[in-house]
Amino acid sequence: MEFAQNEVTRQVGEVARDFARQHIKPYVMQWDETQEFPAQVFHEMGKLGLMGVLVPEAYGGAGLSYVEYVAVIQEIAKVCGSIGLSLAAHNSLCTGHILQFGNEEQKKKYLPKLATGEWLGAWGLTEPNTGSDAANMKTTAVRDGNDWIINGAKSWITHGKSGNIAVVVARTGEPRTSGNSTAFIVERGTPGFSGGKKENKLGMRASETAEMIFDNCRVSDSLRMGEVGDGFRQSLKVLDGGRISIAALSLGIAKGAYEASLQYSKERHQFDQPISNFQAISFKLADMATEIMAAELLTLQAADLKNRGEKMTKEAAMAKYYASEVAVKVSTDAVQIFGGYGYTKDYPVEKYYRDSKLCTIGEGTSEIQKIVIAREVINK
Ligand SMILES: Cc1cc2nc3c(=O)[nH]c(=O)nc-3n(C[C@H](O)[C@H](O)[C@H](O)COP(=O)(O)OP(=O)(O)OC[C@H]3O[C@@H](n4cnc5c(N)ncnc54)[C@H](O)[C@@H]3O)c2cc1C
Repeated sequence: MEFAQNEVTRQVGEVARDFARQHIKPYVMQWDETQEFPAQVFHEMGKLGLMGVLVPEAYGGAGLSYVEYVAVIQEIAKVCGSIGLSLAAHNSLCTGHILQFGNEEQKKKYLPKLATGEWLGAWGLTEPNTGSDAANMKTTAVRDGNDWIINGAKSWITHGKSGNIAVVVARTGEPRTSGNSTAFIVERGTPGFSGGKKENKLGMRASETAEMIFDNCRVSDSLRMGEVGDGFRQSLKVLDGGRISIAALSLGIAKGAYEASLQYSKERHQFDQPISNFQAISFKLADMATEIMAAELLTLQAADLKNRGEKMTKEAAMAKYYASEVAVKVSTDAVQIFGGYGYTKDYPVEKYYRDSKLCTIGEGTSEIQKIVIAREVINK
């Protein structure tokens, strides 16, 4: 495995970094305070290829690999976790599902709009009563001639109100049976499909999280992805890739918090010396640097396996689990290094601290990652 950044990865990272500095950084706290979802930023990122990083050029995307994708998500998340989260959900969940499991007609119709940022995507698996236990979903799709009628609600959906298109996984078989769900593409404006309550969150406040409601929503069978009954299996594959993006999101947040802490520790003087001179502070920085590097290596390993088309369920779960816990630890220590100033909104670390917690929850909690890893190592 090659860990040195190649020229393409470096250049792509630079594009994302420049964009984040110019078009995101000045507004981060305003969006956070007001919970404003800045949809126009995603249209702009689309013009740079950041909304379809993994989509082949033939479908309007940038045609890059997972290693470049990790670089993009990290650079954006270093500046704003919310924008990083939305970008990750758009690229690897909605777009990623259509890319992996859509037929040629579906890919030609939807991927160019998603990859160029003309459209924003949502992906609905979670429901009010079924998060970790997603296979037990209540939303149903019932066949009616050449159509399906979808009824139910999806909750905690990134872009649940603003997404122009959603991939929705609904139950088409009996509860608690294998192969009981199917994935559909539903366009905004389809009668019976609406956005519901928007969540008021601890962190990631500029990333829209909302309900999606389906009330006798009729979709054509041509919008079904793959075979009837294949929805949950498809979702697990999509989440394998999605977990690499949450690992990258975690890395961006951790690096942002670490870099701010390093700088502050050299500038802040107590007892007539920079606080970085105190071993208690310097050891925190040493732990941060070491754990971030370990998380990055795990993430790049999973990305490399994914690029080579190899199974990476265990490696993606390890990267997501470890990197997300590191993001929480690093941003917690960052607030400590900043002392009282870290507890205010005048410095960036309180936001990293709030944003980081999502990383141990979304796309499978840390507990669920450990179940996945344990299953893989025990049944090997
Ligand atoms: C900001 C945000 C954005 C999101 N975006 C999306 C999205 O775009 N699309 C989507 O479909 N979903 C999305 N989600 C949902 C997210 O994936 C779920 O919140 C997550 O999977 C956890 O489900 P839950 O919240 O229902 O928690 P639960 O499943 O109710 O878990 C509660 C607690 O119990 C633990 N637990 C559950 N089962 C077990 C077990 N078997 N063993 C041990 N511990 C267990 C969990 O680890 C957790 O600590 C989003 C969530 C958030 C917060």
